[in-house]
Amino acid sequence: MEQPRDNAGMTTTNHQLQDLLDNNKRWAEETEAQSPGFFSRLLKQQTPQYLWIGCADSRVPANELVDLLPGELFVHRNVANVVVHSDLNCLSVMQFAVDQLKVRHVIIVGHSNCGGVVAALRDLRVGLVDNWLRHVQDVRHMHQAWLDTIPDANRVNALCELNVLEQARNACHTTVVQDAWTRGQEVVVHGWVYGLHNGLLEDLQISAARVEDIEPAYRRSLALVKARHTG
Ligand code: ZN
Repeated sequence: MEQPRDNAGMTTTNHQLQDLLDNNKRWAEETEAQSPGFFSRLLKQQTPQYLWIGCADSRVPANELVDLLPGELFVHRNVANVVVHSDLNCLSVMQFAVDQLKVRHVIIVGHSNCGGVVAALRDLRVGLVDNWLRHVQDVRHMHQAWLDTIPDANRVNALCELNVLEQARNACHTTVVQDAWTRGQEVVVHGWVYGLHNGLLEDLQISAARVEDIEPAYRRSLALVKARHTG
């Protein structure tokens, strides 16, 4: 149908959104054809084994990277994959995932060249998000003395990895994880980093399955990060 001329911009937008709806229809049909009853089974229950806490960056889509289907990965994403003890959104996701869904693994996933980390490192003023990124600046300040000693070209990715370590440690110290460990529930917290340049996930080896693991795992992982980025 011919669109009114003064509505051209809106028409383009509607076409783009229609593409998404068409894509969705095709995906749903293909998924159901490949696995008849797929959606009716998901309707009854979800039993993910993993909670992914990652960056909101569009280049780091959780399910696709680990090739998992709907129902297999519980996901929380925010700018720069931060776990803050006062963030009721992230804590609520963690609590539901651990207490109700009984996920076995909580994975904090950072990524190389993270825009939030760059802003925190370079003191860039972006807007409201600056306040959120103060948490990443706290990580930077914690490790500033070492960051000052490494080549400038390594600093962004070094801080991306340090941020994963600190957020993984924060996750270990949440009441959610602490309470799970106290009652003997198996939950392991991990820290990974994703390479935008090669599409690969790397384990930063900070995995902790009990309170006593936290500091040794943190120190081991920190030593690995430092060895990798020291010039
Ligand atoms: Zn990011």
